[in-house]
Amino acid sequence: MRATKMAPRDQGAPDYTQYLHPMMAKNYGKWDTHDRLRPGVLCHTAENGDKLYTVRAGSTRTMSPAKIRQICNVADRFCRGYLRFTTRANIEFLLDNEDDLDPLIDAVENELGLPVGGTGPSVSNIAHTQGWLHCNLPSTDASGAVKALMDDLIDEFKREEFPNRVHLSTSCCQINCGSHADISVIVQHHHAPRINHDAMQICELPKVVAICPVAAIRPMVLESGKLSVDVVDEKCMYCGACHGQCPSMEIRDADTDTLSIWVGGKASSTRDGPALMKLAVWGLPNNPPRWPEVSIAVRKILQAYKEGGKPWERVGEWIERIGWQRFFEKTGFEFTKYHIEDGPDALSTFNRSSHVRI
Ligand code: SF4
Ligand code: SF4
Repeated sequence: MRATKMAPRDQGAPDYTQYLHPMMAKNYGKWDTHDRLRPGVLCHTAENGDKLYTVRAGSTRTMSPAKIRQICNVADRFCRGYLRFTTRANIEFLLDNEDDLDPLIDAVENELGLPVGGTGPSVSNIAHTQGWLHCNLPSTDASGAVKALMDDLIDEFKREEFPNRVHLSTSCCQINCGSHADISVIVQHHHAPRINHDAMQICELPKVVAICPVAAIRPMVLESGKLSVDVVDEKCMYCGACHGQCPSMEIRDADTDTLSIWVGGKASSTRDGPALMKLAVWGLPNNPPRWPEVSIAVRKILQAYKEGGKPWERVGEWIERIGWQRFFEKTGFEFTKYHIEDGPDALSTFNRSSHVRI
């Protein structure tokens, strides 16, 4: 018999309206203004004068159940239990009593040990990839690199001194699920995958051949008669996508993998719209536990952006205005042949004017 009613869903995102702070639900679609009272504190005012305050704190992203219980206890005391996590793993405590702002901030900073900030033109919490917790591909520890970097940038999280907000991300492989950001730290591989022919499962052949974006993988018959695959080195761009499909193709290499920094990405539709990132630095050592070379390079970009950016310019907009040549001059990074885009889409980004911009 055909069902006439859809069964209740037990998967996917639940209906978010059940989690809204009561004041948010009451004034849904009727908000008038919003202000930043100080770094880390927002105030939304509704048409009827209701005020909802938000205190934003940086989280460690990877947290124990005990830590999450502590955070929820603080929300129970000051926020009627309402808090939320942003896509960059900031924690936002929502409250409607202004008198509770200072006690809440004191509890967040001194009981939970979390910094308050990340609003407006500051460095927001770093978005990073799931890494070794859930993924089989990591070539570095994204969580560790984020911890080291945020320790270095904590004052920039608490202050609002940049021309516009700065989003950072880290990714532990070139697939880059940390996604686009103003400044992004991404692992780089430097050779084609090594194939373990003994472990190669024939059932995986079609998948792994199809996954290669540059058609560098082809089927091969070994001398023993066993089916396997071969990689055309000249075609391979070391992306590692095949390793995700087939564990018999190992791309990670502790001796040669390095880190790179990309700049100028954004998802926002403001002004010129969303933008892809471009390479700024490559070949930084994958140097745990503190990755100091990465922190130094990120600091150079932030310093140059802070000094040269105009109000509201994001990192990519600042670079496009001053030109990439000046970006390399101001940051002191070396410009190499690897910075020249030579892929199939390069014609759309080359400067084809007869005027040379210097
Ligand atoms: S960036 Fe790569 S290795 Fe890291 S979690 Fe995402 S897919 Fe896995
Ligand atoms: S690393 Fe990337 S380009 Fe190279 S063979 Fe694998 S999928 Fe193809």
